[in-house]
Amino acid sequence: MSQAREEARQQIVRTVREWVEKEVIPLAEKYEHDDIYPHELIPQMQEMGLFGLNIPEEYGGLGLDYTTFAMVFEEISRGWMAVGGIIGSHHILTHILVHYGTEEQKRRFLPALARGEKRGGLALTEPNAGSDVQSIQTTARRDGEEYVINGTKMFITNGLHGTTFALLAKTDPTAQPPYRGMSCFVVEKGPGFTVGRKLDKLGYRGVDTVELIFNDYRCPAENLVGGREGEGFKQVMSGLEGGRINVAARAIGVATAAFERAIRYAQQRKAFGRPIAEHQAIQLMLADMYTKIQAARHLTYEAARKKDSGERADLEAGIAKLFASEVCVEVTLNAMRIHGGVGYLRDLPLERYYRDAPLMVIGEGTNEIQRLVIARQLLQRYRV
Ligand SMILES: Cc1cc2nc3c(=O)[nH]c(=O)nc-3n(C[C@H](O)[C@H](O)[C@H](O)COP(=O)(O)OP(=O)(O)OC[C@H]3O[C@@H](n4cnc5c(N)ncnc54)[C@H](O)[C@@H]3O)c2cc1C
Repeated sequence: MSQAREEARQQIVRTVREWVEKEVIPLAEKYEHDDIYPHELIPQMQEMGLFGLNIPEEYGGLGLDYTTFAMVFEEISRGWMAVGGIIGSHHILTHILVHYGTEEQKRRFLPALARGEKRGGLALTEPNAGSDVQSIQTTARRDGEEYVINGTKMFITNGLHGTTFALLAKTDPTAQPPYRGMSCFVVEKGPGFTVGRKLDKLGYRGVDTVELIFNDYRCPAENLVGGREGEGFKQVMSGLEGGRINVAARAIGVATAAFERAIRYAQQRKAFGRPIAEHQAIQLMLADMYTKIQAARHLTYEAARKKDSGERADLEAGIAKLFASEVCVEVTLNAMRIHGGVGYLRDLPLERYYRDAPLMVIGEGTNEIQRLVIARQLLQRYRV
């Protein structure tokens, strides 16, 4: 990497870190506990270009590589992971458009998405189909210059405050294997597209996650991504590779915040006449926490590097997401243990980190599914 590019990377990461310290952390506890959307952060995020991280500069974005992208998500999640959610699935939508949209679709959607004037996400999961993506029941039937879309999407982040989503639907419900009959559309709020229930979550509070209902929603045919039916499964899976790098980075951010709290507290809190950091049991815990966070960070950068090279990165992204999310669950619990009783109180953010961590195990493909993807790739690579 050129020195100029490295400096640009350091600059954006530093800017985001300072913003998180100054603007995000002071809001996090109250807004998270009360499940309040941080509207006032949106103009600041727009100003910094955070809605166009992976959009090329010619369409108004920052055109960052995935390594810098991961660093930005880590910094945000050190402060408050849900703020990462506002731009997380938004960048799956933009990834799909950047890599698979027609030139006309890129010009029509990307500049407003980069500015954050249009915000959105990914509408993939349904009440009866999560891991088993090919079982989705949402259909898109061609009718002249439009598609008529019917179905319900579940757990859609940004579904309330966003307007624009990459939606996966079946254009040929009889296709075998089913993925061949799946297409991706850019859908925008309008008649026939309603927001259902807002979901009440354990963690990741503040950011909106809702049900989206499509009832004879008419989508212009020109919003079919890439202009061809049957390509949607591949397009969305490629978007999810970037999503897994983002989730891994979020996990590292949350784990780092928990670790930093724990190592400070361990030097201040005394038990049996000395700081608990001088007890070996605590030292072993701190050493393991830091080692695992560092390992997760390296795996994530490796996945990001592979994705940037244009190569298929599902193995690396899956490994990074699997490892980093499990580390996050372990580290946030251990940080709470190191804090003893006060770690269990809502006065400190330890309990928030602990509640946020399991989402990274479940979201963007559960860790069981990651293991299946990893094993499938390994069995190909080591075929006898
Ligand atoms: C807060 C939150 C935000 C979300 N945001 C979005 C979003 O913006 N857009 C979106 O489309 N989705 C979103 N999701 C959905 C998320 O991606 C799914 O919940 C996830 O993919 C799992 O699907 P599921 O909930 O249907 O679980 P299921 O698929 O029903 O899985 C249940 C259990 O069975 C296991 N399992 C399933 N199949 C297998 C198998 N073959 N082998 C072994 N184990 C298996 C799973 O690992 C899991 O443990 C969000 C979810 C949450 C909780």
